[in-house]
Amino acid sequence: MSVTQSTFAEIGQALRDHQTFAILSHVRPDGDALGSQLALALSLEQLGKTVRVWNEDGMIEKYNFLPRAALLSKPPAQKEEVDLVVALDTAVQTRLGTAIESVGSARMLINIDHHPSNPRYGDLVFIDPVSPATGQILFELISDQKLPMTPEIAENLYVAISTDTGSFQYPNTTARTFEIAAELIRAGVDVGRVSQLLYENYPRRRVELLRELLGTMRFAGQGRVASFSLSLAMTKRLGVLPEDNEGLIDHLRAIRGVIVAVFFEELPEGKVRVSMRSKSSEADVCAICMKFGGGGHKLAAGARVRGTLAEVEQKVLEAICDVVDCQS
Ligand code: AMP
Ligand code: MN
Ligand code: MN
Repeated sequence: MSVTQSTFAEIGQALRDHQTFAILSHVRPDGDALGSQLALALSLEQLGKTVRVWNEDGMIEKYNFLPRAALLSKPPAQKEEVDLVVALDTAVQTRLGTAIESVGSARMLINIDHHPSNPRYGDLVFIDPVSPATGQILFELISDQKLPMTPEIAENLYVAISTDTGSFQYPNTTARTFEIAAELIRAGVDVGRVSQLLYENYPRRRVELLRELLGTMRFAGQGRVASFSLSLAMTKRLGVLPEDNEGLIDHLRAIRGVIVAVFFEELPEGKVRVSMRSKSSEADVCAICMKFGGGGHKLAAGARVRGTLAEVEQKVLEAICDVVDCQS
């Protein structure tokens, strides 16, 4: 069932008219998911609202520096009643994972996202598929509706936008993105400090993981497709956390001639997490991932595929070769 696009005025009114909120985002959260959750929660808190900020994975170590990070928690075992649920940056409702299960009941679900594959679940829906980050949509909502903005909110939004644009480099970055970044800096963001915390503060085990992954690197289609794989055995041996591999796929994308980069991660439950990046709008990785039940954006998408690592690698690489001519 498809819901028409709500206006910022409608969403603003729903936010003002209710008192208790659950602010949720997707499993295996990234900077956009967590930064967006905290930003909206802090703005609502300024309005005197009661906010719960839940993610299946809770706050992850690498984003612990986000202002008021402690507000974010794993969903409680006992269900809680709230007036309103907001799902942020979540392409399909099931990607809210266990967070939504802790909501006892709610009058309304608001879905704010930028994934083109979002099926528009919820009661009020705002999907902007050309926005580079959910954080950017929230900035527009906050400005348009004159919701509270503080230095803490600004820093959370800056992290959301910086991480989803690959530090303002991906083609989804627009003039508006830089205007918003400028506004956020004026609102109190210290760019040097935040960038260092985001991009120059990795645990050593992440780089050790990269060393291992590069050992599994392989190419197809005359170098147009590059992939590497993380087995469960490797995960165990190196003691890496799920969050450690976020962004490592960029090392494959950064290779000259590579159009599609793929990262395979073996999961404990007999599935493989597939992460894909494209450098050309002609190679739509969202379309490829949707064939495997996943989704995302044209140039960055993912899926969870049942099977062994070797099976999934073969199936997925074949599907990519249907799009990126691997024979010529
Ligand atoms: P990732 O490779 O995990 O960084 O994800 C890239 C993009 O694809 C993100 O925008 C995700 O929201 C989306 N995505 C990843 N996995 C899935 C999935 N299983 N279903 C739908 N969308 C996904
Ligand atoms: Mn995300
Ligand atoms: Mn996002």
